[in-house]
Amino acid sequence: MICGSRLDPADWEAFRAEAHGALDRMIDHISTVRDRPVWKVAPPEIRARFMSDLPGEGSSLAEALDIFETAIKPYATGNLHPTFMGWVHGAGTPVGMVAEMLAAGLNANCGGRDHIGVEVERQITRWMRQAFGFPEDAAGLFVTGTSIANFLALLIARYALLGDGLRRSGQPASVALRAYASEAAHGCIARAMEMAGLGSDNLRRAPCGPDGAVRVEALRAMIAADRARGATPFLLVGSVGTVNLGAVDPLDELADLAAEEGIWFHVDGAFGALAAFSPRLAPLLKGLERADSVAFDFRKWGQVPYAAGFLLTRDGDVQRRAFMGADSYLTRAARGLAAGEAWPCDYGPDLSRGFQALKTWFTIKVFGADALGRCIEESCDLARYLARRLTQGGLFEVKAPVTLNIVCFGVRGREAGPRNRAIVEYVHASGAAAPSVTILDGEAVIRCAIVNHRTRREDIDAVAAALEGAARTVAAENAPLA
Ligand SMILES: *Cc1c(COP(=O)(O)O)cnc(C)c1O
Repeated sequence: MICGSRLDPADWEAFRAEAHGALDRMIDHISTVRDRPVWKVAPPEIRARFMSDLPGEGSSLAEALDIFETAIKPYATGNLHPTFMGWVHGAGTPVGMVAEMLAAGLNANCGGRDHIGVEVERQITRWMRQAFGFPEDAAGLFVTGTSIANFLALLIARYALLGDGLRRSGQPASVALRAYASEAAHGCIARAMEMAGLGSDNLRRAPCGPDGAVRVEALRAMIAADRARGATPFLLVGSVGTVNLGAVDPLDELADLAAEEGIWFHVDGAFGALAAFSPRLAPLLKGLERADSVAFDFRKWGQVPYAAGFLLTRDGDVQRRAFMGADSYLTRAARGLAAGEAWPCDYGPDLSRGFQALKTWFTIKVFGADALGRCIEESCDLARYLARRLTQGGLFEVKAPVTLNIVCFGVRGREAGPRNRAIVEYVHASGAAAPSVTILDGEAVIRCAIVNHRTRREDIDAVAAALEGAARTVAAENAPLA
């Protein structure tokens, strides 16, 4: 198909047929996802197909598509499947897929300049200001994921405190910065401290109550103790939807504390922040509208295809000043393609950026925030249903309160950790469901996070039955040891 050094098809009609065929097969794949196992391991002979030498000569598109069909598509993560609930992966949608294809066709660089891609990204920012109750001058920025969004928020918080001197000379040796979060905060907060050169020991982690939400008084005491030692508190991180339990920190109280202390209040709302789309769940997020910044991801509960991380910052100007460069090739013109005051590249470290906004725009435009909010509510209802169903079955006990969409549970009895692990491995291998293992109070427990818009009650019943079957098998295998 490729002739000479030209990369466009020599025969557009033949290409059109192949491209349509590929799209049709993917639509078949998604529409029949229920009929297949959630996951299967890629065997060595399949992996071996990706260990060849760098090809000097190309091959036909048909051959590459054939490899995709036989060696890639069957061995993917499984997060399209309604019984995938191990981790907070979104399921994506066919609409998002089409948008992603169109974005790849346009191949726009959304770092800046005067083109419509940048305006579409601004539309997403406008929508999220409205959803979270943020002011007009709040800035929004697509990034890869929430880890990076949290990291940028930390850098902005530090810049807000130390100003331009930080950019020129680095952090003064005399300032000992401290950040605060709960023990349940995502590991990327500690890594953000490490990457910023601040050190993860300087992230103070306060204990949580039985519901998994941070104890604000403990944070207050830690901040006072650090101040008494001459350190400088600069960042308070609250979580909406903790990674293990889906717990929600008391944001209003955290906002009060941050205001009293004059420190930056950041919310890691990786998946939970989009609960703002649900009128029923939105009250849980009370106080989010007071945050200085919110990191979240449309690819989780928003069902946008990977990657669609986002950072919303109340004071857009401070974010811009924290990152903007003055390079000559980025000079703004009054008119033409180089026009426009503020470009997305001014608000973060990425200069060139893809058109992530398009698949997000399509998703919100086509489904609407209300339907996305209902999917989010439904995940929460299904999590409660799973917890009840497992408890009634008698083999499992639920290990933590279900605040949103995450259920942590394990088999009854002592020394359950190894059995919980064995059950999860057994269920993965069977292809019936994909739960995960996490550690609560030092013990391995089973975790189901319901994020997928395809998951229904009957899927929950199937997952519960698979887990119970596995628990019986594991118990029978362990019987001689007991
Ligand atoms: C998923 C998640 C993250 C990390 O997001 P990535 O996109 O995987 O980098 C951070 N915090 C919370 C609470 C999460 O659920």
